[in-house]
Amino acid sequence: MRVHHLNCGSFYPHGKRLVNGHGGLLEAGLIVCHCLAIEAGDGLVLVDTGFGIEDARDPGRLGAPTHRLMNARPAIATTALSQLEALGFAQTDVRHIVATHLDPDHSGGLADFPDAEVHVFAPELEAARHPSLREKPRYRSAHWDHGPRWVEHSVGGDRWFGFESVRILPGVTEDIALVPLIGHTRGHTGVAVDTGDGWMLHCGDAYFDHRELATPPSCPPMLRLFQSLTAIDNATRKANRERLRELWERHGEEIDLLCSHDPHDLERRQAATGPAGAIG
Ligand SMILES: [Zn+2]
Repeated sequence: MRVHHLNCGSFYPHGKRLVNGHGGLLEAGLIVCHCLAIEAGDGLVLVDTGFGIEDARDPGRLGAPTHRLMNARPAIATTALSQLEALGFAQTDVRHIVATHLDPDHSGGLADFPDAEVHVFAPELEAARHPSLREKPRYRSAHWDHGPRWVEHSVGGDRWFGFESVRILPGVTEDIALVPLIGHTRGHTGVAVDTGDGWMLHCGDAYFDHRELATPPSCPPMLRLFQSLTAIDNATRKANRERLRELWERHGEEIDLLCSHDPHDLERRQAATGPAGAIG
């Protein structure tokens, strides 16, 4: 199963050292939106979509926190659609999209693939449709005004390395599963992919920096603060991150763990598979 690693959006927040753990305080940091394009069956499965074409035309669509505070710079060339076309795929090749969650930096490109089925963990769609007062600022209904073909999933007893899981594409491939990792949002989930060369777990925003999985764990201070402030359930987020750290410690040889926003994670995968999306 071939997996392309794409950066579908970049943020340039102030204070590189506080964001990336190296560089100057006056330099801009870099946060990426690491999406996967998986060749499965006779089409593509996208894991997250980053920023979309309409976000590049009107960055205000992302909402002030994403756009201004985090200094997001959506660009048409780095949308999933543009990058897939550059790789020789057509828009209609994307049959399925799996959303780790529906924050604007993960859902912006949904409208660029209106015919794809969009797989989401049921509590996340419920949060996006009926946000609490606290959740309201994060979900951008403009990202699903086009009426995506939602496919809601609930867990039903399957396990993956001790985590609850649900296989989402029976009949297409048995090798892609949601692995709920609640905390960042109400219905946040990881996505496990059996690549044929071992498992890969895209952890979305369950952690932001690869050093959080190290022993002892560490995290640049700005990212630590940002994660605590944006988590809908911070205690559960931390507990799930600890479970991921243990998973990495025990099964790091068999499972490739990566997260959405770490440029180091993305660079490593792109170096191994060939650059499929420019960073920066
Ligand atoms: Zn995010």
